[in-house]
Amino acid sequence: MTEPAPKVSIVAPCFNEEQSLPLFAERVAAACKAAVGEAYEIVLVNDGSRDGTWSVIQSLAQRWPHIVGINLSRNHGHQLAVTAGLNLARGMRVLVIDADLQDPPELLSAMMARMDEGYDVVYGKRRSRAEESRFKLATASLFYRLLARVSEVEIPTDVGDFRLMSRRIVDRLNAMPEHDRFIRGMVAWLGGRQAEVLYDRDARHAGETQYTLAKMLRLAANGVASFSTAPLKIAIVLALVGMALACAILLYALVGFFTGKTAPGWTSLALIMVFFGVGQLGCLAIIGAYLGRTYMQVKGRPLYLIDEIVASPAEPEG
Ligand code: UDP
Ligand code: MG
Repeated sequence: MTEPAPKVSIVAPCFNEEQSLPLFAERVAAACKAAVGEAYEIVLVNDGSRDGTWSVIQSLAQRWPHIVGINLSRNHGHQLAVTAGLNLARGMRVLVIDADLQDPPELLSAMMARMDEGYDVVYGKRRSRAEESRFKLATASLFYRLLARVSEVEIPTDVGDFRLMSRRIVDRLNAMPEHDRFIRGMVAWLGGRQAEVLYDRDARHAGETQYTLAKMLRLAANGVASFSTAPLKIAIVLALVGMALACAILLYALVGFFTGKTAPGWTSLALIMVFFGVGQLGCLAIIGAYLGRTYMQVKGRPLYLIDEIVASPAEPEG
């Protein structure tokens, strides 16, 4: 006999979180109990931590039947740690939450209630962020706004990966094979009915942010590159601007040549440079256009997703 699936799975990526985990597990368990009774599981993914995170997870899992620990072979990064947790979570609904207690687990009940209204995704939107550096706030805000402009799908702003998803969305997410994962964008891309719940983002319970500048930049680059081919299209813009400039230079060079005001040889040199410069940009633009399409194809995303089909019932025969 197989066990029935839990009503909710909590997925938390953990990188050097040994100090936060005991309190985190306690608060999450209390929030789950309030929301669904005993039908929950907590999936803790150790993302190659360098401190005692894994032994804390092991001892928690021994004491607590609700806890499932996953140990990744090395530090794969936040997005892949979440992916591993989503792949293994069995719940009818899945909540993704940071292990550092910046996202309040107590929001689970409100999110569950919202989902009962018929939503596929309920994400936590940050109303405020306590004790994060000005630099982090400014860069995060800039990034969200830039992404909203270039992205081909509407990715909600000021929303991280703290969200409750239905089994249908999690299954679809799990079926997306792309390597560079920007989960909040992928969930937005999947569509369905999405709702938000506002919350105040707390300060870290313990330790330092694990998102170094390099990791933040990589996430930002993934966000832009996974949801937009805008950077590839820069060559097109440059080629068009170059062509306009080329016409002006051409005119100038020819007028100079016929009025005899230029040094000998200048006209032909100018024309050669203009011709090849614009030609190269044009070729790059063409390559960019094909590359962008190849990239999108290689991602192997489904072409579309159907939520529902309605049809009138067939006429009874006879
Ligand atoms: N994290 C992870 N792998 C990493 C970096 C972070 O699993 O390489 C986890 C971390 O333990 C936390 C969550 O991802 O649960 C968010 O990280 P952090 O709090 O450092 O980011 P911030 O909240 O400052 O954006
Ligand atoms: Mg944090």
